[in-house]
Amino acid sequence: MTQLTRQDCERLDQDDALAAVRQEFDLPENTIYLNGNSLGAMPKKALDQARQTVINEWGQDLIKSWNLHDWFSLPQRLGDQLAPLIGADAGEVVVTDSTGINLFKVLSAALMSQQQAHPQRKKIVMEGSNFPTDNYTAQGLIKLLGDQHEIVFAEGEEIVEVIDDSVAVVCLTQVHYKTGRILDMQAITEKTHACGALSIWDLCHSAGAMPVELNACRVDFAVGCTYKYLNGGPGSPAFIFTAKRHQGKALQPLTGWWGHAAPFAFERDYTPADNISQMLSGTQPIVSLAMTAVGLDISVRADMQLVRQKSQQLGDLFIRLLAERCGDCQFRVVSPLDAAQRGSQVAIAHEHGYAIMQAMIARGVIGDFRAPDILRVGFSALYVSYTDVYDAVDILRDIMDNDIWQQPEYNRRHAVT
Ligand SMILES: *Cc1c(COP(=O)(O)O)cnc(C)c1O
Repeated sequence: MTQLTRQDCERLDQDDALAAVRQEFDLPENTIYLNGNSLGAMPKKALDQARQTVINEWGQDLIKSWNLHDWFSLPQRLGDQLAPLIGADAGEVVVTDSTGINLFKVLSAALMSQQQAHPQRKKIVMEGSNFPTDNYTAQGLIKLLGDQHEIVFAEGEEIVEVIDDSVAVVCLTQVHYKTGRILDMQAITEKTHACGALSIWDLCHSAGAMPVELNACRVDFAVGCTYKYLNGGPGSPAFIFTAKRHQGKALQPLTGWWGHAAPFAFERDYTPADNISQMLSGTQPIVSLAMTAVGLDISVRADMQLVRQKSQQLGDLFIRLLAERCGDCQFRVVSPLDAAQRGSQVAIAHEHGYAIMQAMIARGVIGDFRAPDILRVGFSALYVSYTDVYDAVDILRDIMDNDIWQQPEYNRRHAVT
């Protein structure tokens, strides 16, 4: 097989049906941004939205904005906008709070439902190598509930095997944050239901990166963030999905006034809304919430099948170029080599991973590092080009060939990796 050239990649860019979407983002000069899996890029319209919300709405219309600009229904309106991206219907999603807090809500709701249906079941199946906040949140909730529940940790293939009729809830992340490996949502959810358990899926690394089919898979609850592939801005509020059949029945314990059936009746006692609004707790960060509309709008207009296809091709291209151009540099691909099994990122391991990533960042190729030895590069198909991938590997090769990573400044650890 002949080696790929930069011209080959230029040709791929010319034929890329998504190439024009990149124009909707403001990316800095001399930067190859391969970290959309951690913080999405800034849409150009974000600035207009910020001006509108801060200067016009907050500045001029002040408190009238709650009605005038419909601030109060933003969580539901954004949820309806997001719903088609995750295979949900209108009225099943709200955008609110953080992923961790939303996970606390849905895990509580699922456990409380099972307390009625199957009170003897105390097991929660989770993946030990999942992004820690999911497991920490479950551990905190278990303590709060008097230490009666038990987390059964399983990894990848083992997961379906530990699901049986002693399990209350199966709570998993669809795309692994570190390796990018995809779990089979359909098969695992089927097994979960066949055993009488409830399913919760975390979509942090899938929403906006690939088509997700929550209702086709009959998923019960889901959460996910908007600041990664949905380009909502740093710390933008997360989403929460509750299947219609659970609404009004599965209740979450952060019972603030926004989840009340009649928030403006200011009653003494809590009565839950009988719809998705019950998943809300209290007053939302309206500026940040309003900003998420901009990124969502771009994703909703993009064809998710094309986004998926392109991100798979970018990942395959990276893996091939790495083998062709850095074959003797001791990199080990940790992600599945089969693009069908892989999300929108590629993880490679190297003993000196931290320093190598620091050297790459200094050269304008932005990825990230996850302990102990993993370099992650994300391929957000909305704004990463094929030539970006070519140039990134070219820079990596230079860093390796010339031992640039050995410079002391690349070996000092920062707080955020
Ligand atoms: C990014 C990510 C989170 C983030 O949670 P926050 O509450 O926003 O800090 C949670 N879970 C997974 C799997 C993630 O990848």
